[in-house]
Amino acid sequence: MDALTPARPNRTLRGPAELADAGLVPCERLPALASVAARYAVAVPPAMAALIDPTDPRDPIARQLLPTEAELVHAPGESADPIGDNVHSPVPGVVHRYPDRALLKVTHACAVYCRFCFRRESVGPGAEALSAEALDTALAYIGARPEIWEVILTGGDPLVLSARRLRETMVRLGAIPHVKVVRIHTRLPVADPSRVTRPLVAAMGASGKATYVALHANHPRELTPAVGDACARIIDAGLPMLGQTVLLAGVNDDAATLAALMRGFVEARIKPYYLHHPDLAPGAGQFRVSLAKGQALMRALRGRLSGLCQPTYVLDIPGGHGKVPVGPSYLAPEQPLGDLDACVQVEDPWGQAHAYPPVPPLNPSAAK
Ligand SMILES: *Cc1c(COP(=O)(O)O)cnc(C)c1O
Ligand code: SF4
Repeated sequence: MDALTPARPNRTLRGPAELADAGLVPCERLPALASVAARYAVAVPPAMAALIDPTDPRDPIARQLLPTEAELVHAPGESADPIGDNVHSPVPGVVHRYPDRALLKVTHACAVYCRFCFRRESVGPGAEALSAEALDTALAYIGARPEIWEVILTGGDPLVLSARRLRETMVRLGAIPHVKVVRIHTRLPVADPSRVTRPLVAAMGASGKATYVALHANHPRELTPAVGDACARIIDAGLPMLGQTVLLAGVNDDAATLAALMRGFVEARIKPYYLHHPDLAPGAGQFRVSLAKGQALMRALRGRLSGLCQPTYVLDIPGGHGKVPVGPSYLAPEQPLGDLDACVQVEDPWGQAHAYPPVPPLNPSAAK
């Protein structure tokens, strides 16, 4: 680091003034950014600040984390609750949209605040963790519904809870016999790998149920050696990991970046799970890409990468109608698929069509 580069403090940068002091945003933008920060939480932890190249105006880490004036521009169709959590929330802290699994939002806080966050109207510091009474009610709701096979801890980021508090919640989930699987959705190993301590990892597994950890990461540069070590501590403790990525314009909407990210996950023993089409979060229009582009990127991944590196590309249908895979499809669209004696045209990843033969008619004399 040369003498002209401002020092980056070894603590989380919270707000435009601290970002300016660290040389990450220009001072002349402070008044405008103050109104952005008043609306949407800002936090850039040291491990992520260190990844930003302030001389690159298109830096993909900066783009995800540094507030911009564009966030105050709200486009038609954007919503404070883009995936309809509220319509499926029977009690505070629980979202129950699918019969066999429920979300448990244990905190609203995160270690880092992403500018495209689909829950940006509800996450942030202040009134952070679910109150003791609300947690009791949420656990009672889950305990009274035998159809709930899986509980997904989310937030916010459930791993910002203290190890003691996380352990208590996990032990209580462990006592519900019909809950067989616990999933934790987190960005903490990327945001602050040093916080993935052995006590925290022990707490993550404290339900005694099959426990999966889904890591949110969007760019291959986020997967540093320290992040790899943090994930290894989780996986070596017997908790398999999944990768979750949001497709983001200007961050990862090109095949080479996505390919490097997916390979980075697999090399860290993390199975890519979902590539999320960006949600209609308020002020996040700058991150949107078309479904056609997403499909083209998925096709490029299919043609060049191991099957282990393939996520499922999903859209959470606005309004709470659920997540669906959005392609691409390799079957020609006008195919009569129900028609047993028709050949089907299948496209390979490079766009060449091939005929796939029909199911043969049953031959009664061949059956014994
Ligand atoms: C995304 C989500 C889930 C989990 O869906 P999977 O497809 O099982 O990963 C569950 N409930 C809600 C409300 C969700 O938004
Ligand atoms: S870590 Fe997740 S919940 Fe937190 S701000 Fe980022 S996208 Fe939102």
